[in-house]
Amino acid sequence: MQFFAVEEEVIHHVGDAQCPECLEEYPESCPCGGLIHAESRGPDGADGTEWLRTRCDLCRRSQEDVEEDLGREPA
Ligand SMILES: [Zn+2]
Ligand SMILES: [Zn+2]
Repeated sequence: MQFFAVEEEVIHHVGDAQCPECLEEYPESCPCGGLIHAESRGPDGADGTEWLRTRCDLCRRSQEDVEEDLGREPA
């Protein structure tokens, strides 16, 4: 089993669709063939908002980046 970090801690299971460290509903499949893992932490910072971080275990993009790419390319 290989591990990788979404944010800081190297705890996510590469290629595991049932990754135990992910939020519910994650990992999601990435168009690159990898899995997009997600973490949240918080409330954090002065404004008290929680953050969500996502990262693909293969292409290492965030979900936002992947969706931006999909939006640019016609289906
Ligand atoms: Zn994960
Ligand atoms: Zn990917």
